[in-house]
Amino acid sequence: MAAVIPLSIASAVLPDGDQLELIGGGEKTTRLLRWHDGRAVKCREFESGGRRFTPATIGEILPSEIILATGISDYKSPEDLFKSIGLVFQSTCGLERNNAERATCFAFATHFAEFRDPAPRAIVNWIDAWEALQFLELLAPFCRHAIRTTRFEPADCWNLPAGCSPTFLICDPRPSSALLKFLDATQHSGFAVTQAGRVVTRPFSAVVLTSGHELDDRIPATFLRINATPQTRPSLVDAKALQKIARDFQPQLLAYRLKNRSRVAGATFDADRFRGGTRALASVLGSCFPNSVELQNRVVKLLEPQDEERRLDHARCESAVVLEALLIACHEGRASMHVGEIAELANGILDLRGDGYHLEARKVGNILSSFSLGQRRDSRGYGFLLSTECKQRIHELARSLDVPFFRGQIKKCDICKKLSPNAPRVHI
Ligand SMILES: [Zn+2]
Repeated sequence: MAAVIPLSIASAVLPDGDQLELIGGGEKTTRLLRWHDGRAVKCREFESGGRRFTPATIGEILPSEIILATGISDYKSPEDLFKSIGLVFQSTCGLERNNAERATCFAFATHFAEFRDPAPRAIVNWIDAWEALQFLELLAPFCRHAIRTTRFEPADCWNLPAGCSPTFLICDPRPSSALLKFLDATQHSGFAVTQAGRVVTRPFSAVVLTSGHELDDRIPATFLRINATPQTRPSLVDAKALQKIARDFQPQLLAYRLKNRSRVAGATFDADRFRGGTRALASVLGSCFPNSVELQNRVVKLLEPQDEERRLDHARCESAVVLEALLIACHEGRASMHVGEIAELANGILDLRGDGYHLEARKVGNILSSFSLGQRRDSRGYGFLLSTECKQRIHELARSLDVPFFRGQIKKCDICKKLSPNAPRVHI
């Protein structure tokens, strides 16, 4: 009989539903914890279906900084566990309650990173670098397979053992846009990375720091935003205190994962009021609480400011201004429009808002082309007929970008009346 080649793992789900998890022992040793029928047993290795699983070892394939649970321990309820973690962020880092709870949501999501898409990403805004670092230090003991790193090299995360879905806490106060792009692209499980002649995919969670607003327009809406500026004086956290927090909470979070894995993997929480990236983020975070409507509602509340920002960004963007000009033309009952006239209307809107800039007719022409309204050229230049279909499309595009026109004191036209507030998003 051929010898069974052992597979060194950090986590595995077996065909019969049993789960194996890597846990830490004393002195950087590791063992496996087998979860079977709601009960946990610790073992040195485990054989199943002709395969032999062994615990990945620290220092060889696992970095020595990784934070592991040492076993499991029960928690009162998901709400209670959520609340206790939020309180640690509030009391230790002085975080305001909403930001403390956003950090808590992120920590929970890291324990299910391989089952959800997009994978958890968070961006931390800060004013004081030391306080931001304290926050990252404190976040680590709550995250799954946490690895704190000052420079993130993507190659480091592909050689980890099977089942390891690490959380990289990246302490790089000036993240490059290349790093953000990489973290954005690797959020989606369907997209692999080619590296050194191999094609690899690995789900992982990541949190990065950023100060200032220079990167704001490059941060995807699927990244959770946490503000680490303390509201009250933070405590001084030392390594001992962090170890104690990990000892208290990692076993509870591992128990939460083991008990809820299949439900979280199959959950499809959908927050009706959000669109685009915020909707995907809400789904990832809300699905971590399949047994708690209270926590799912809380996730929605916590993401409202982020969604409002997204809507404002969209509403202010140049396409939205041009669409608003087009809506005015529709409501004035015009039969046709020329690019110059639309530019004039758009600039009138910008003047009213005091935005301090104007759009050139050529720019307006480019934006109009992206709307596919069927432009044609006549003696007065490029323009198009405002047919019923064209007006319909203008309304739909404007609705999908939350153009402020609809929120003003307007007399609704027939198309406005038919538009549902939750009309599906139309891609431009
Ligand atoms: Zn209308």
